[in-house]
Amino acid sequence: MSKTYIKCLKCNTVNLNLDYCSNCGAILNIVLKRKLEREKRAEEKLELERLTEKPSTIEAFLRKGSKHSNIIIRLIFKLFYYIWFFFAIVIGGLIAAVISTVAG
Ligand SMILES: [Zn+2]
Repeated sequence: MSKTYIKCLKCNTVNLNLDYCSNCGAILNIVLKRKLEREKRAEEKLELERLTEKPSTIEAFLRKGSKHSNIIIRLIFKLFYYIWFFFAIVIGGLIAAVISTVAG
């Protein structure tokens, strides 16, 4: 087992083979730190997307229906949801195409 002494950048405590500082709890493992930062950024991005993309009434309605206790109703709602989702993407693509054409 290799011994690695890592000095904490925050409180200058020297730690032996630790991912987190024994004194202040700061992350010492740079690989772990980068990984956590990456995960945090991905989470923030998801959160932002969730907030910016407000589900429309139709989408909310279809989503609610797809959780219905009756399997047949659930399947119908799911089918409509996918159709709606498909059109939303197509229309979104068309709008983007029109905007990019106008912007030239
Ligand atoms: Zn520390």
